[in-house]
Amino acid sequence: MADGPELARADGLLTELRGRTADPPGVSRASYGEGEQIAHDMARAWAEELGLEIARDFAGNLYMTLPGRERARPRLMMGSHMDAVPHGGNYDGAAGVVAGLSALHRMRRLGVTPRMDVTVMAIRAEEVSWFPAPYIGSRAAFGILPAEVLDTVVRFDTGRTLGAHLAEGGHDPEAIRAGRRYLDPAGIGAYVEVHIEQGPHLVKSGQRCAIVTRIRGNYRYKHCRVLGEYAHAGAVPRADRRDALLAAVEFASGLDGMWARREAAGEDLVCTVGQFYTDPAVHTITKIPGEVRFTMDFRSYDEAVLADCHAELERLAERIARARAVSVELGEHTHAPAAAMDDGLIAGLRRAAQRLGIEAPEMASGAGHDCAVFASQGVPCAMLFIRNYHSSHNPKEEMTIDDFAETARLLYAMLDELVA
Ligand SMILES: [Zn+2]
Repeated sequence: MADGPELARADGLLTELRGRTADPPGVSRASYGEGEQIAHDMARAWAEELGLEIARDFAGNLYMTLPGRERARPRLMMGSHMDAVPHGGNYDGAAGVVAGLSALHRMRRLGVTPRMDVTVMAIRAEEVSWFPAPYIGSRAAFGILPAEVLDTVVRFDTGRTLGAHLAEGGHDPEAIRAGRRYLDPAGIGAYVEVHIEQGPHLVKSGQRCAIVTRIRGNYRYKHCRVLGEYAHAGAVPRADRRDALLAAVEFASGLDGMWARREAAGEDLVCTVGQFYTDPAVHTITKIPGEVRFTMDFRSYDEAVLADCHAELERLAERIARARAVSVELGEHTHAPAAAMDDGLIAGLRRAAQRLGIEAPEMASGAGHDCAVFASQGVPCAMLFIRNYHSSHNPKEEMTIDDFAETARLLYAMLDELVA
C-alpha cells in the first residue's frame, strides 16, 4: 500500500534532481538561485500531474494543495526547503517536500478526499550558507521577516542583496517590507516536516526513522571582533600590551568554561567558534596582534538558556576588555527560536508506529528547521527524521529509498488519522 507508484515517483524525482543540480562534488541549490528553482519546478510538475491547487506567495514559497471536504477548516501542512548548501547532499530539505507530495499522490490514488485541505509547501531559502539569515522563506510567509534583512543581507556568491534576488526571481520584496502575511497561523491545524537526520543516531541504532520531540534554537554571531594595538613583539612588556589575540583566546576559553558549567548544571547547550583569525596580510610573526575576528554559534532547546548565555557572554566581553585594554565586540547576532513539537501529534505518530510495527525512537534535533518557525507562530508541529549516512551539508549525505519508504509509511498512517 505504501510502496505504490508514489514511491517510484519520489525516487525518480530525487534521482533526477541530483542530476540536474549536480555541482561536483555534490549538488548546489542556491537560495533564490538556479538549483532551488529547478527543485521548485520539479515539485510543481508533480503537483500538476496530481491536479493539485498550486499557489505561490510573495517570497516564492510554493503551495500545492489537495482540497478537503471542509475547506474552511484549518488546513494540514507538510513541507520543507529545497535549497541546499554549496556542494551539499541531495536529500537535506528535498526529501521532506518529496515525502509530502508522495502522501498527496497516495491520497489521490486511493481516492481519499481529506476532511480539510492538505497542503505541501516547498519553502525557499532555509540554508544560511547563501544568505546569512535563518529561515528566510518561512519567516516571510508568516510576515515576520524583518524588512531590513532585504537590504542588509547579501548572498555570499553574488554580493547582491536578498531584495535584489527576490525582485529578479519575479517575487515581491515590497510585500515582505510591508510585513504582509501570507500564512495565518490560525488557518493551519498542523505542520509536519520530514527531514533527513543530520547526526549519527539512527545509523548507530540501526533504525530507519525517528520522531522528533524538539528543535534547538540558536544565537549566531558572524562578526565578533577584538581590537587591541599592533606593536613590536620583542620590545613591549606584558603590562603595556593590548594583545587582541590573547584577549580573544581568553574569550573563547571563557565560552568553553560557561558551557562546561551550564552542562554540569543540566542545561542543554552546545557552543562553537567556527572562524578565528588574524589578518595574515597585516599580521606578522613579530607583531603583537592588533585585531582578531571570530564567529560564534551557540544552541539550546531552552530559550531562557539562550538569552542567559547572550547576557553572560556580553559581561565576559566587558570584563576581558577592561582587564586587557582592548575592545571586545560581539557585533550583530541572529536568533532562531527553539521549538517543542506538539504532544498530540507526537502521540499520533507513536500510535501509528505501533500499529505498523515500526521502531521509531524519539529524539531531539540539534539542527534548526523551518518547523521551528511554524512552532514559534503557535502552529502544532511534528517532525520525522529519516536515517541518513555521513551527516549532511556534504556530498556524502546518503538516504536509502527503503528508509524513505518506511518513514513515508509512518507519515501516511499519521495523516490517515488526521484527515479522516
Ligand atoms: Zn534542511
